Amino acid sequence: MKYHAQWEASLFELIRRTSVDLPADVEQGLRRAYKSEKKASRARWALEAILENVQAARDNDAPLCQDTGSLIFYFQVPVGFDTNALASATRMAVTRATRLGYLRQNTIDSLTGIPCETNVAHGAPVFYFEQCARSTVDVRLLMKGGGSENVGRQYSLPNTELGAGRDMEGVRRCILDALVSAQGNGCAPGVLGVCIGGDRATGYECAKSQFLRKLDDKSSVKVLGRLEDRLLKESRQLEIGPMGLGGATALLGVKIGSLSRLPASFFVSVSYMCWALRRRGALLTVRGGFKKWL
Ligand code: SF4
Repeated sequence: MKYHAQWEASLFELIRRTSVDLPADVEQGLRRAYKSEKKASRARWALEAILENVQAARDNDAPLCQDTGSLIFYFQVPVGFDTNALASATRMAVTRATRLGYLRQNTIDSLTGIPCETNVAHGAPVFYFEQCARSTVDVRLLMKGGGSENVGRQYSLPNTELGAGRDMEGVRRCILDALVSAQGNGCAPGVLGVCIGGDRATGYECAKSQFLRKLDDKSSVKVLGRLEDRLLKESRQLEIGPMGLGGATALLGVKIGSLSRLPASFFVSVSYMCWALRRRGALLTVRGGFKKWL
């Protein structure tokens, strides 16, 4: 197979799998939530419907949700690697996945309102490239639905309304406020990706990159790990529940990262990911050959 075709084939398979097959840890999280909710409750019913949907998508090789989301690709490549060629192969794979129905025609020109047939347009898909001392290519794909994107929030501390100062208690108040404000919108139960610090752009970038972490991954930074645990526990007491229908499971996880900041600003960026947390990674050779799923 020619170099470009090999790349396209591997990336197409990554997109297909990400779109139709919910990661095992997320599905397990949904199953645990189902068992933890009261019998005959609306929360249980909602989780049961979600789990049936997950299985149906897998069985029918069909997208997990009609909104196949923004496509965010994270590449780690060897030093000197041709990232232009990689971007071009990725765009071809996205086009093919759209034509075959693994991706909805989900991209619209913001100025004209005209839909794009291929999902390849200005700013779509989104790419992050990092050159590293390595001999293989690590690619991760995140598909981020629009409904969940709508309920993300960014705070600038101090925030008098929330009584939130520039400290960890202030950060905690912001994250809880984002969850309470969402009230299950954005298709709960979801995962919160949070960044403390950075600027308005890098804060959200870092917050979204937290969704690449598995649900059982606790931050190795003690203060952040403790806050992740505490917020997950506190979320259960809010009675928001799946889809905002009441119950304990508004969240499957909280993942918090941090960036340095300027003395003048202190941002807390909270990105919300719905239950359809579509993420998958692959390790590929420098010629695009598949090595293993990550
Ligand atoms: S928020 Fe998520 S689950 Fe809800 S419609 Fe959008 S992609 Fe689908």
